Amino acid sequence: MATTISEPGTRFSAEDLVHLNSLFENADPRAILQWGYKIFGCKMVLGTGFGPSGVFLIHHLAELNQPTPIFYLDTHLLFDKTHALKEELEERYDIDITAVPPSLGLDEQSAQYGPELWKRDPDKCCHLRKVLPLQQYLSDKKAWISGIRRSQGDARSRADIFEWDKKNNVMKINPLVHWSAEMVWDEIHKHNLPYNPLHDEGYPSIGCIPCTSKVGDGEPERAGRWKEMEKTECGIHLPEQQLHKNGDS
Ligand code: SF4
Repeated sequence: MATTISEPGTRFSAEDLVHLNSLFENADPRAILQWGYKIFGCKMVLGTGFGPSGVFLIHHLAELNQPTPIFYLDTHLLFDKTHALKEELEERYDIDITAVPPSLGLDEQSAQYGPELWKRDPDKCCHLRKVLPLQQYLSDKKAWISGIRRSQGDARSRADIFEWDKKNNVMKINPLVHWSAEMVWDEIHKHNLPYNPLHDEGYPSIGCIPCTSKVGDGEPERAGRWKEMEKTECGIHLPEQQLHKNGDS
């Protein structure tokens, strides 16, 4: 297996990924995080939107005393309660979480593309405020960790623990891919971890303010994201072919 990585973007073969996924299929997320650190060091980063899965992974990194850099995509449209949770996590774990902003401020975006682009062309808005900044941030990295789970449905239902992220030319590692929302929440409560209070107000999944709504009883976890639209993903977790289908580039 190609486990020696000398240059950013060095690829793992499809066979390597199959082997890794079967090797770690039933592994504790901490074993996956440790393996990643052994291979990629601090060129492996954790991306989070501060949902319960991200909080749980941050907690694990702290438990392991693993200095993996942590970042979030600061679209300038996040809830105050999300920013407050970020600060609480930084204080609790004595860490700095890097904000990755888009190159365009909101006023600049409005001037170039018109006001409230998210209402008219949310794929373009996500591309400008999430996909491109992520691409830029990962350009000198070798791997990124995300908290996505198959149980979140749609494109995520086909995710693996180890994937090759073609858009960003890095390994993508999803240590909680086999976990349910209930399993993650059990850990949040068991370890008394902080979480976004909006979850208790009817928002199981939280992103940008204009594209996040409450969900009704029995609705899927991510039903409140881009409600009333066909869109279900911002694009950073979509494979290349689906990005094009979504009108993203
Ligand atoms: S989630 Fe909505 S507001 Fe945020 S970047 Fe995407 S379209 Fe724009």
